[in-house]
Amino acid sequence: MPIPRVTATVDLSAIRHNLSRVRALAPQSKVMAAIKADGYGHGAVPVAQALADAGVDAFAVACLEEAMTLRAAGISTRIALLEGVLSRDEAIEAAALGLEIVIHDRWQLDLLASLPPDSPLAVWFKLDSGMHRLGFPLAEAQSLNEALHAHPNWQLQGWITHLACADDLASPMTQAQITAFEAAMDGIPGARSIANSAGLTAWPQARVDWVRPGLMLYGASPMPGQTGADLGLKPAMEVASRLIAVHPIAAGETVGYGATFTCPETMQVGVVAVGYADGVHRILPTGAPVLIHGVRVPIIGRVSMDMITVDLRRLPQAAVGDPVTLWGAGLPVEEVATWAGTLAYELFCGLTNRVHYRYTG
Ligand SMILES: *Cc1c(COP(=O)(O)O)cnc(C)c1O
Repeated sequence: MPIPRVTATVDLSAIRHNLSRVRALAPQSKVMAAIKADGYGHGAVPVAQALADAGVDAFAVACLEEAMTLRAAGISTRIALLEGVLSRDEAIEAAALGLEIVIHDRWQLDLLASLPPDSPLAVWFKLDSGMHRLGFPLAEAQSLNEALHAHPNWQLQGWITHLACADDLASPMTQAQITAFEAAMDGIPGARSIANSAGLTAWPQARVDWVRPGLMLYGASPMPGQTGADLGLKPAMEVASRLIAVHPIAAGETVGYGATFTCPETMQVGVVAVGYADGVHRILPTGAPVLIHGVRVPIIGRVSMDMITVDLRRLPQAAVGDPVTLWGAGLPVEEVATWAGTLAYELFCGLTNRVHYRYTG
């Protein structure tokens, strides 16, 4: 039996805990948990099972294929398709699986209107309050509401909008979006949904009928300069590999592709069996930390496909076989993301199928 090289350990009890933090922040709101992109790289099915056990109200996925995976695994919780359906066949399949279809554009409205009028169809409308990615103009809310009369088989679940700058407390955009959305909705029946993780942590006025957290359920903070722990969240994922070589390299010698690191003295260099083919970003520079025996040691030289090299001067006792944490307890994913010039979202989603998953809790 091969020994797992790189392991992502996912603590499902942390995910349930993080849902309880969402509930504490938005006690009046229903929770639609975003588990698109394979549960942000955590494994959509186990994450969905954990959240369903904890009583989540609905799930959000990007597309029909993701929803089919959940239904095939026996998940019977409500599921919304955030990008709606792409064809008539998808619409029929979605209806058969009891999925909720977000309608964000006129062409989808026409597509759904062409379905047989007898079968029930659960729909959400998406309105564009300023992000200008998906959604109908706010001015069309009234006519969309009226269009429902022509489709008695459509069951309206609610109205969604999405915030562009909720992670920036100084931006006036969030309040402007909320105000414009509320004004457009005035007098129109149906549940409202505004907030992603950043909206729901930082903007109390965005905690309306439904909240749609993703990132924070996995224990990471959506706010720059904060970690999940600052918000009472528990990181759900730890990614680890092991040292496969430890050797002294002489002063003046270089390490790795491109010879970008020169040893300033004779020093112990460790080789860790993880690389960009596992999801460790190649852009991580010399100095970015990994954790060995609870000590931060810096990556040196280039990240290669299957390996990274680390400076073991701080850890002379390190030996082949020792576990190495890429992110997780003791090394927040947010910090690693900053070193990589990206966000926790991208690190989570960037893990590849060479990584072994293990579930606890
Ligand atoms: C992904 C997504 C969310 C969740 O966003 P987080 O920042 O991960 O909380 C909410 N709403 C929509 C429309 C999304 O696409």
